[in-house]
Amino acid sequence: MYDIIIKNGFVVDWDLNIEDMKDIGIKDGKISEVSDEIEESKGDQIIDVSNKLVIPGIIDTHVHIIRKDSKAAGYRMLIKAGVTAAVDMKGPVYRANEEIGKYAYGLKVAVLQGLVPGKDLKKDEKNREVIKNKIEEILNQGAFGIKVVGGHYPFTPETTKMIIEETYKQKAYFAFHVGTSDTGSNIDGMREAVELIGELPGHIAHVNSYCRGLIMNELDEAVEAVNLLKKSPNISSESYLAKINGTSGKFNKQGKPESLVTRNCLRGFGYSEDKEGIRQSIMDKNAAVYIRIGEEMKLIWGEEAYNLWEKNNSDVYMCFPVNSPKAIFLCATEKRDNGEFVVDSISTDGGSIPRNFIIESGLPLVKFGGLNLKEFVKKTSYNPAKVLGLKNKGSLDVGKDADITIIDIDKNKATHTIIDGKISMIDGYLMNNPGKIITQSSGVKHLEEMGVNYIEVDLEESYYWNRTVK
Ligand SMILES: [Zn+2]
Repeated sequence: MYDIIIKNGFVVDWDLNIEDMKDIGIKDGKISEVSDEIEESKGDQIIDVSNKLVIPGIIDTHVHIIRKDSKAAGYRMLIKAGVTAAVDMKGPVYRANEEIGKYAYGLKVAVLQGLVPGKDLKKDEKNREVIKNKIEEILNQGAFGIKVVGGHYPFTPETTKMIIEETYKQKAYFAFHVGTSDTGSNIDGMREAVELIGELPGHIAHVNSYCRGLIMNELDEAVEAVNLLKKSPNISSESYLAKINGTSGKFNKQGKPESLVTRNCLRGFGYSEDKEGIRQSIMDKNAAVYIRIGEEMKLIWGEEAYNLWEKNNSDVYMCFPVNSPKAIFLCATEKRDNGEFVVDSISTDGGSIPRNFIIESGLPLVKFGGLNLKEFVKKTSYNPAKVLGLKNKGSLDVGKDADITIIDIDKNKATHTIIDGKISMIDGYLMNNPGKIITQSSGVKHLEEMGVNYIEVDLEESYYWNRTVK
């Protein structure tokens, strides 16, 4: 007997090389059978998904769930978008630990905690011991790894390099939003990042975002970005598909945007890097503010957005429509000589940022011919699972976790999100099962003490670790 049978779906799986009508039997949270037909009498619950696409659960390798004011919004938005596991690229992990049992809707979350210069470490910290201790402290709280958010808040190149090395020594995952005090969130920063990572394992975040035409033209930058990755097979990466970015509207005491990305955006559109520039960019709809409305985060444009920015003393999240569709296409589709994708995964940089577009923009990419359906599954589930070392995910093979995303292919919308054989979402309605933190052995003790549910991963057995020329 099965707990659930998913009947009459069009099943696509990279790992099993399936693209066909199949039934799936689920028992005790695992995939138990995938075959042409399973008799209805064998199941407690039947989900008929005729004319729908059934794929291994989407794993979004770059999201932001844990943010002030967003509360459960990020989890809800991801589950509605068909995501079953995600990497939060900022943290802090202690907040994820508090939230994951309460309102994660079953989502599995790995946290790469951001290091902020001036707060976590000095911008030019030279003492290795201090860096080592900070990383250790974060990993012991359950984080999967460390993120340097250099594009927004840079360290010096020397300090950045030491953070990369110390993260490696502690066998944790390192992700980089490129940029140091010498460069920025652009193709120069990416060139520098590849050098700083050297031959160690490392992850370059949202590759498309360094190709916005700030140094050369967009297409030349995109070609250089993929060529840099082709020459550095040790580097893991993802790119996203949204036109809008995500940044902070917050001003410093000198009346300038705190985030260097926000300054880039204003400059790129020809606005001044001050209050008047922000006002004009918002009024021209070259910038939007996003805030929590009801249970989700929503984009606000025009005068209402500017009023929110003023009312909150600039401390609001903002988006600028700055991503190049040419760079997005190249990053999503380009392959290495061996047939592997240059950029491992399609991510969103979403979660609580309203751009959870893996299905919404990813399937049109398939219709356009940029990817085939199996490749879509490879980039949204198989590769993410492999890179992160999630051995029981990324495929619908018998014995794997029953993490499944079901999609209405005409509407480009997830209709069902199933995690560990439990339904988290049907047609936009959510069921709140507890989630789990994806951690390493370093985080287990603390999570046990806190009573937080977790999955332990050995990064040394992941593709992230083993693709590396050490
Ligand atoms: Zn991000």
